[in-house]
Amino acid sequence: MEAPSNLGVPQITRTERGELKLAFRGPVYTQDKKNSIGTSHFWRCESKDECRARLHTAVGTDEAVKVVGEHNDPADAAFVEAAAGNSEVERRALSTQEAPSQLLNNLAASRSFAGKGCLPKPDSIKRRINRLRGVSSLAPAYPSDRASIVVPEAYTMYQCEPGAPERFLLGDSGVGYEERVLIFGRETAAEWVGYVQRIYVDGTFSLAPGKFEQLFVIRSLIV
Ligand SMILES: [Zn+2]
Repeated sequence: MEAPSNLGVPQITRTERGELKLAFRGPVYTQDKKNSIGTSHFWRCESKDECRARLHTAVGTDEAVKVVGEHNDPADAAFVEAAAGNSEVERRALSTQEAPSQLLNNLAASRSFAGKGCLPKPDSIKRRINRLRGVSSLAPAYPSDRASIVVPEAYTMYQCEPGAPERFLLGDSGVGYEERVLIFGRETAAEWVGYVQRIYVDGTFSLAPGKFEQLFVIRSLIV
């Protein structure tokens, strides 16, 4: 079972009409119901007609414990305008695997919240992010030897679902090392590896990529 984590304390305000609104890392949410056992409040993104993102907070402490789904709307008009010409957008687009809307939300989280509601999609910014990534997604040049391989950041991450990137390159004996070994796997395996009951290992030489001698695969079984 996933332990609830404290993601931070959102800003909760009451409107003149008595509704509760919550701001967290940019987007604004309106109050929905509690969970069946009364331990969490559910909140819906204010643009709920277009956006399916939800937030769960702990009853009592009001800490954010879970964000469900992904926003497809930006949080703050001023921020979006600034982001259009922002070098940080460029850096994150090239160095992370965040989906465009996630990237904008994460950037918004690092700025002070301006208290504005959700606005229409920043299509121009999404196009820019995708264009930047398109340019850089060309495969890197074929390495001349193992020691000189520099694994591009985009190849070191894995994304099983949007907005949940995790490390994929888990081990690297290091640039300059002649007997180079690279270990790939999913970082989240650390959460369940203790439940593994059986492992299967297989080393193959014929499938190893050029400059490498062997591809060694470890698979696990949890029953
Ligand atoms: Zn939203």
